[in-house]
Amino acid sequence: MSTEEQQSTPLFSELGLSAPILKAVQEAGYETPSPIQAQSIAPLLEGRDLLGQAQTGTGKTAAFSLPLLSRIDVKSKMPQMLVLAPTRELAIQVAEAIQSYARHMKGLHVLPIYGGQSMGIQLRQLQRNPQVIVGTPGRILDHIRRSTLKLGELKSLVLDEADEMLRMGFIDDVETILKETPDSRQVALFSATMPSAIHRVATRYLKDPVEIRIKSKTTTMETINQRYWQVTGMHKLDALTRILEVEEFDAMIIFVRTKNSTAELAEKLEARGYSSSPLNGDMNQAAREKAIERMKKGKLDILVATDVAARGLDIARMSHVVNYDIPYDTESYVHRIGRTGRAGRKGEAILFVSPREKRMLFAIEKATRQTIAKMQLPSTEDIADRRVMQFNQQLSETMEAQDLSFFEKVISDYQQEHNADPLEVAAALTYLVQKTRPLKPVKHVQERPARAERERGSRNERPERGDRERSPRRSNRSSEHKAEQGMQTYRVEVGRTHGVEVKNLVGAIANEAGIDSKDIGRISLQDSHSTIDLPEGMPKDLFQQLRKVWVCNKQLELSLMGAGEASSDDSSPRKPRRSGKPRSRPRDASRRPSTRRSNKPSSD
Ligand code: AMP
Repeated sequence: MSTEEQQSTPLFSELGLSAPILKAVQEAGYETPSPIQAQSIAPLLEGRDLLGQAQTGTGKTAAFSLPLLSRIDVKSKMPQMLVLAPTRELAIQVAEAIQSYARHMKGLHVLPIYGGQSMGIQLRQLQRNPQVIVGTPGRILDHIRRSTLKLGELKSLVLDEADEMLRMGFIDDVETILKETPDSRQVALFSATMPSAIHRVATRYLKDPVEIRIKSKTTTMETINQRYWQVTGMHKLDALTRILEVEEFDAMIIFVRTKNSTAELAEKLEARGYSSSPLNGDMNQAAREKAIERMKKGKLDILVATDVAARGLDIARMSHVVNYDIPYDTESYVHRIGRTGRAGRKGEAILFVSPREKRMLFAIEKATRQTIAKMQLPSTEDIADRRVMQFNQQLSETMEAQDLSFFEKVISDYQQEHNADPLEVAAALTYLVQKTRPLKPVKHVQERPARAERERGSRNERPERGDRERSPRRSNRSSEHKAEQGMQTYRVEVGRTHGVEVKNLVGAIANEAGIDSKDIGRISLQDSHSTIDLPEGMPKDLFQQLRKVWVCNKQLELSLMGAGEASSDDSSPRKPRRSGKPRSRPRDASRRPSTRRSNKPSSD
C-alpha cells in the first residue's frame, strides 16, 4: 500500500459511541466510518450543533443517528430526538435505519409520523412514548399544535435534506417547529446544497455549528473508460450478471459497502460460475494476501471488496472496476477506479447509480473532469450471441485437442440404429450441453416499470417497504384475483405459516430463476400457500426449475392457477414442437425431471 493512499480514518470503536450502538454497527457490517461520519460523530456526541453539506448516499443517516442515539436516556419516556424529513418515504426509511441502529437499546421506541396516515393511529402510537420521532414538518406541526406531541425534553433536532424541505415549501413549518423546541437542544442540519434561505435558518438557529463539507479534489484519469448504469428495472445482481456475461474482462474488482455484502455477493457470483472471493477487513492478513496472490496468478477473476480492504491494491491484470454500491465521496471513487488502468494500461470503470444517487454522479464527473457515459445493459440477444460464440469456440477447441474416437462410435451407432439425421443429433447434444446455461437465455415477455429497486436506491441495506404485499391492489382471496394482461397467476406451496415474506419469494424467483424483479407481478400471501403473477408463456425448463426452488425450507412446487387450480402437469406451460415428428413422452414427465427424456429447447 502506498503511503499517499493510506488515510487515517478512525475506527467506529474510537469515536465514543455507546456500546449498544457500536454492537449494531458491527452487526450491520460497516467496516469504517464514511467521511461524513468520521467528521460528524465526535462533535454531535459532544452536543454541538452541526451544519453538514451532504447528500444521500454519503452515510449521513448514520452520521447523525449513531451519536444522537448514544445520547438518549431510554429510561425517560419523552421525545428526545426529532428528525424532520421532506417526504413520507424518507421519513420511513430514516425511521427504519434508526430502528436498526437502536436495536440493542432496550426500551427505545422510534416512531415515523407523516401526512396521509390516520391521526387516530398516530395518536395511539404517540401514547406509547417514543423517544425518537421521525416525521414530515406539516404533520409534526399539527401534533405540536394539538399538544399531542410535547417537545419539552427534546435533546436533538435533525433537519434532513433541508434544501428539499425548502423546495417543497416546508421551510416556514420547519422554523415554527424550531421555535417550539427548547433552547438547550442541539441542531444538526444536513443539506445537499446551501441556498440562502437554508443558510439563513442555519445562522439564526444553530449555535456555533461545526461545519462539515466533504471536499473533493479534481483528478483526471485518462486511461480509464468510465460508464454508469442507472439502476432501473432490475436487481443490481441481475444487471451485474448480464455485464459479466458480455464484457471482455481479465480481472475485476467489485466495490460494495459492507463486509457482509462482500461475502454474499462473492458467494452468489461463485454460484453463477465466476471464480470470486471477498476481500474485507474482517479477513486476516494471510487470507487477504492469499486472495490477492490468487488474483495475480489468474486463479481468481473477481474480488468483491470494501474500500478499506482494497486500498492501495495493485494488480496489473485488473481490467475492470465495478462500483456496485456508489462510493460515499468523489475521493473514494477516484481511489476505487485507480485499481485499474495500472502501469499505463487501459481500464474500465462501471458505476451503478440509483435515481437518488444522481447528485453523487455529477459530483464525480466534476471531480474527475470527465463525463461518465450512460451505458445500456447487454440485451438477451447480446448474451445469446456471446454464449453461442463461446460455445463455438469450445467446440473448435475440443475437436482440435481431444481424442473423440470413442464418442464418434457412440454417435455413429446411435445414428445408424435410429436412422437419425446427424444435424438433429448434433442439435440434441447441443441442447443437452446448454441446459443449465441456455444458449438462448429467457427473454422477458413484458417491459413494465420497475418497482423494487426504484425506491430502494442507495438504501439497499434496508428492508423494502410494503414487504407483505407487492401490489396495492392486494387480494387475499385468490378467487377474486385476475392477473394483468400478459401475466399468469401461479400458486406456490409456501405461505405465511411457513414464515414466508414477499421479499423471500421475489428474491428466490429473481435470483434462482433469473427472472427480472420487474417481471414479477402481484404476490398474495395466504396461510398455506401464496399466489404470484409471472409473465405469460414461461418456458418449460424454467417452470421445472422454479418448481424445485426452496423457500423457507419448502419447495415452491409452482403450478399454474385457473382450470380448477390445475395440477402441475396440466398447468405446465407448453411450447409447440418444432418438428412434426410425434414423440412419446411420459405422461407424468414434469414430475420426474431426472428420468424425463429430452425435450426440444424452448424457443424463448
Ligand atoms: P445514507 O447516505 O444515510 O442514505 O446511507 C447510504 C447507505 O450506506 C445505507 O445503505 C447505509 O446502510 C450504508 N452505510 C452507512 N454508513 C455506512 C458505513 N460506515 N459502512 C458501510 N455502509 C454504510
